[in-house]
Amino acid sequence: MNTDPVDYICSAIRSVPDWPKPGITFRDITPVLQDPRSFRVLVDMFVYRYMRQRLDLVAGVDARGFILGSVLAYELNLGFVPVRKKGKLPFETVAEEYTLEYGNATVEMHTDAVRPGQRVVLIDDLIATGGTMMAAIKLLQRLGANVVEAAAIIDLPELGGSKVVRETGLPLYTVCS
Ligand code: AMP
Repeated sequence: MNTDPVDYICSAIRSVPDWPKPGITFRDITPVLQDPRSFRVLVDMFVYRYMRQRLDLVAGVDARGFILGSVLAYELNLGFVPVRKKGKLPFETVAEEYTLEYGNATVEMHTDAVRPGQRVVLIDDLIATGGTMMAAIKLLQRLGANVVEAAAIIDLPELGGSKVVRETGLPLYTVCS
């Protein structure tokens, strides 16, 4: 039996070649979520990491960052705020555009999602080029948040995103790479 929590989680991630297009290997976390033990181990690792930090909010990135982010917020007795793809939030928003391999994308937050000085941890499922994470960090910081750490379950270090985030001086926590 595999008793190492990191191995247990990381070995449950499914790599799907050539999805959503040829040349991309999609890292699918649905098997981790589907198995109650790996889901619990994953959540517990994050809870243990952040339980002694004085945090105010968990922010999660659309869409898979919502799953771990909201459970983590609940377990830590914190609020949860979504960082959404463009056009999904109904109230006043702030937006941050970033470049993808082909074209641009935009993430948005409600202007009242964070109060200045609130201590926030930012959660996504995966960091690749870091474009999404950096845009989310910038949005939070524009709202006055103190982003204490950014975190993802998976790092694809060969795509350089984790290095970009760490070079800003912001701590980045990832579990599987
Ligand atoms: P990036 O902005 O390039 O760091 O891409 C990270 C975002 O895109 C995350 O929100 C991921 O959910 C998604 N993503 C990028 N590449 C992959 C991949 N190979 N497998 C699964 N999700 C990915």
